[in-house]
Amino acid sequence: MNKQELEMLSKHKQRSENGFDALKQFVIDQKACNYCGACISVCPKGSLAMGDESPELVDDCNSCGVCYLACPRTFLPMTSMQQWSFNTDEIPPLGTYIHATLASSNNEKIMERSPDGGIVTTLFTYLLENNLADAVITSGKQHSSHWCYHPKPRVVTNPEDLLDCIDRKYDPNPLLTLLRETTGFKKVAFAGLACHVLGLKKLQYAAHAYREELPALAKISDRLTRNIDFVVGIGCMCRMEKGAWDVMLNEKGVSGEDQVVKHFEERITGDYVFHLQDGSEARVPHTRIIEDPHHMCFLCCDYDGYFSDLTIDRSEFQPYSTVLLRDQKAEALFNQCLEKNLLHVRDIPNKGEDFVEDMKPMLQSLIDFDTYGYENFLKTGRFTLDPSMQQMMSHFEERRMRGIPENIFLELLKKYPQFGFARKKREELGYENLDIV
Ligand code: SF4
Ligand code: SF4
Ligand code: SF4
Repeated sequence: MNKQELEMLSKHKQRSENGFDALKQFVIDQKACNYCGACISVCPKGSLAMGDESPELVDDCNSCGVCYLACPRTFLPMTSMQQWSFNTDEIPPLGTYIHATLASSNNEKIMERSPDGGIVTTLFTYLLENNLADAVITSGKQHSSHWCYHPKPRVVTNPEDLLDCIDRKYDPNPLLTLLRETTGFKKVAFAGLACHVLGLKKLQYAAHAYREELPALAKISDRLTRNIDFVVGIGCMCRMEKGAWDVMLNEKGVSGEDQVVKHFEERITGDYVFHLQDGSEARVPHTRIIEDPHHMCFLCCDYDGYFSDLTIDRSEFQPYSTVLLRDQKAEALFNQCLEKNLLHVRDIPNKGEDFVEDMKPMLQSLIDFDTYGYENFLKTGRFTLDPSMQQMMSHFEERRMRGIPENIFLELLKKYPQFGFARKKREELGYENLDIV
């Protein structure tokens, strides 16, 4: 642990003495909570519950401060976590990985329901069927409609039940609340967005590294996460505000998500296309979607689940997903699934690296330009997208990137106009910023 990290711990240890009030003051009231649920799982008194937008105190608080210290929006020792995970200090674009490929499931039942390559469902089915995991933590659905964008944290032990969890769900999801419920299992696999993985890995790192400095956090983190054996990160650009999809569908004359029988993201335009029960089609342009971003995503500094074993990211090539195998455990599991003909792969192209390099200075300059109207959000609670952003998004339809360069481009888009600008503006306006060393 370096000097910077020790200083950071000392500052946050002091703050944490105010217990839940510290979490409220420095995270929740600062519009920084990412709804991950870690604080709820670590509270030794079980005094926290998830409210509509953030955790709430529902019983006595003994001011132990563990919720504040566990929260991934208070401080993050990114360099040490990278060193601990991959024996290097630098986090390269998309994070460290051994091998990248495009992959898709061979399971017809999975592919009937999956908008992408069905990789998580295939891997988790294999783990459960072969007793390589006895439970998985994943995102289920709140409603039984064919498409449901309202996620529900779910523990699955029966592989058949994984079929009900397929599909993208766009609302925030407090997946880490389930850590409390899974301590009785021997081996648990976990799949979550980049922010969930970051919260989970902070706990696993704390269990290993903070036994002396933050013993209460280390002990609780160890109890909650020592059985988490395999972690899948899902690359993520941004969520939308709660309920935004109902509004967008209503604008298109669709009464709700239960009318949707199939949906996909069209690869050329990036538009979201919905096939409806009456046989018609509704189309939500991708430029509309960025008008309702979720504010939690502007403080997101992990673009791809950097500390996962395996990352699933988007790809231009349907029905394939980009798969980043980050360590030997992931490589071995993935190869077993290939040998058993559960998955198939195709080479991943590397087209447009030069374009991304050319675009990088422009993307970096967006750190000075309020493309999404984040300042307005901090002042009024509403985003106001700059029209030039919509034009820029349309321009990128002609992009020449394919494969890894495309994934890197998306990472840069998230890094500069979202995270970079938000961090800068928060500092200017006197808001708290996440400590990262
Ligand atoms: S973790 Fe500790 S400080 Fe936080 S709410 Fe629970 S008892 Fe209070
Ligand atoms: S970011 Fe996660 S840990 Fe922090 S307050 Fe929100 S739900 Fe709790
Ligand atoms: S952008 Fe980050 S904070 Fe937002 S949902 Fe995705 S991973 Fe989570």
